[in-house]
Amino acid sequence: MSAAEAFVTLATTDPYCMGATVVASSLRRHGTTRSIVVMVTTNISEEWRHTLEEVFDEVIVVDEMDSEDHLRLSWLGRPELGITFTKIHCWTLTQYSKCVFLDADTLVLCNVDELFDRDELSAAPDPGWPDCFNSGVFVFRPSLQTHDRLLDHALQHGSFDGGDQGLLNSFFSSWSVEDIHKHLPFIYNLSATSVYSYLPAFHQFGHNAKIVHFLGPAKPWSSGTSHSHTMEGFVSLWWKEYLSQTSSLPVTQPSQDEEKTQ
Ligand code: UDP
Ligand code: MN
Repeated sequence: MSAAEAFVTLATTDPYCMGATVVASSLRRHGTTRSIVVMVTTNISEEWRHTLEEVFDEVIVVDEMDSEDHLRLSWLGRPELGITFTKIHCWTLTQYSKCVFLDADTLVLCNVDELFDRDELSAAPDPGWPDCFNSGVFVFRPSLQTHDRLLDHALQHGSFDGGDQGLLNSFFSSWSVEDIHKHLPFIYNLSATSVYSYLPAFHQFGHNAKIVHFLGPAKPWSSGTSHSHTMEGFVSLWWKEYLSQTSSLPVTQPSQDEEKTQ
């Protein structure tokens, strides 16, 4: 068994590739000693595929739907589980003994390698329903057995929110009560929503943030979305990180100039 450990993210479209590069470069900026891995599907462009190969230690292509897959027929009836299943593929990365999954819409603000001291499944509370964990940042142990059990669980019970977070919360259902060490402090997954809902707490504790999560439809790279005044600072930091990368990265949409005029 390998002792290697990795940060893992996921990008199934070109815009999410932009986010993925920021995850990688912000992790490197803060001197991680772990590998940085991205899972992609075949529908990302060649251009992005090459860029990701420069930025990540490993680019792993996962099939969104494999015709040989024994699950295919059941899966076809549940199109909403597609993206969910893609994220769940992270459990197949058994070349690593432990991993930290980071959504492609996260930005790392300092070294967070201490997350590898935690066990599966560690995650921070979801701001919308704190008895559920948010699946944008979580610690897990790759295992083909767990992967199979997760897929079975999805096929039998679906996902109560149609995404990976509903599935993972019903699978790791004892998270909220079992072991406080599996509750990551909120500063490891600070989302915009919490800035609106509890601004004084953000003023008090926000400067301790370690990972910012641009949860919801307003991604830093998407046009036509507005961010709260407080999040704007993090959005500019995201762009700074994106543009700091040495290789010339594609800007999928919108153009930088459009984004800056918002
Ligand atoms: N994702 C992706 N392609 C998509 C949607 C999602 O690759 O079309 C991946 C990406 O890593 C993303 C994660 O799945 O960060 C979860 O989706 P998102 O962050 O948009 O959900 P939210 O955090 O806003 O609930
Ligand atoms: Mn997210």
